[in-house]
Amino acid sequence: MLRYDLHCHSTYSDGLLAPADVMRRAAAGRVDVVALTDHDEVAGLAEAREAAEAAGMRFIPGSEISVTWEGDTVHVVALGIDPENTRLTAGLADIRAGRDARARRIGDALAQAGIPDAFDGALTYVTSERLISRTHFARYLVETGHVRDLKDAFKRYLTTGKPGYVPHAWASLADAVRWIHGAGGQAVIAHPGRYKLTPAQLRALVAEFRDLGGDALEIVSPSHTPQQYNDFAALARTHGLKGSCGTDFHGPGESRLEFGDLPPLPAGVDPVWSTW
Ligand code: AMP
Ligand code: MN
Ligand code: MN
Ligand code: MN
Repeated sequence: MLRYDLHCHSTYSDGLLAPADVMRRAAAGRVDVVALTDHDEVAGLAEAREAAEAAGMRFIPGSEISVTWEGDTVHVVALGIDPENTRLTAGLADIRAGRDARARRIGDALAQAGIPDAFDGALTYVTSERLISRTHFARYLVETGHVRDLKDAFKRYLTTGKPGYVPHAWASLADAVRWIHGAGGQAVIAHPGRYKLTPAQLRALVAEFRDLGGDALEIVSPSHTPQQYNDFAALARTHGLKGSCGTDFHGPGESRLEFGDLPPLPAGVDPVWSTW
């Protein structure tokens, strides 16, 4: 059985390691087939491919696209895309551009909440001038002692309704699926267990995604409990979607499961790689 890991991040978005180091870590975890999926970005893929293939793995070019669906943020993983596709790269560039203004507003909101200079502080954690994310703010809040750890930073400051949260409009679900398919890839709803959606809303999201031609649901993820693996396997099956898996690795010690630690997809799920 080959080990697949189809979701992880590098310094081209909010990961802590350069693409080649992420790939070497995946190989050390005995992963056979790996995708790099930086948020709204494809710039790390060439470096990652070279390192992945040098380490004997099969490389799948990917990205994780930020989407707004019915007012909530949803992530769509792209797998097997052509990183040179201009419609896709233009769409991703638009999303990244929106992040800059949003980050300034997050800095202003945190200042209102008594935490000055967070925008400049977050910038010191940014590793690609093309992309700033809430994770960079979270790392700054940890460093300055305002919170215990990353989780605490999100819980107390950076999620919906909290003092540093700023609503933002990302791409539409339809655009994300269209860009991915236009670039020859497959579209996967990332970590469905992480969204603050009711079960009915989640079914509506999955049904709309399927109707748009979406391909798969991420089933095995550190964001999910073993019970959720089974629930999302059933959800995928009833909607005719395939299943995917990935560690969502951001850096050593930042995730519950490391490369190589993922259990297999539940029985009865058609893997997203079944046609590869
Ligand atoms: P952004 O795309 O700027 O909204 O940032 C989202 C990123 O924040 C996600 O990709 C995760 O890496 C990180 N994140 C979100 N929620 C949490 C959490 N509760 N704990 C740790 N990291 C989180
Ligand atoms: Mn992230
Ligand atoms: Mn995500
Ligand atoms: Mn991710």
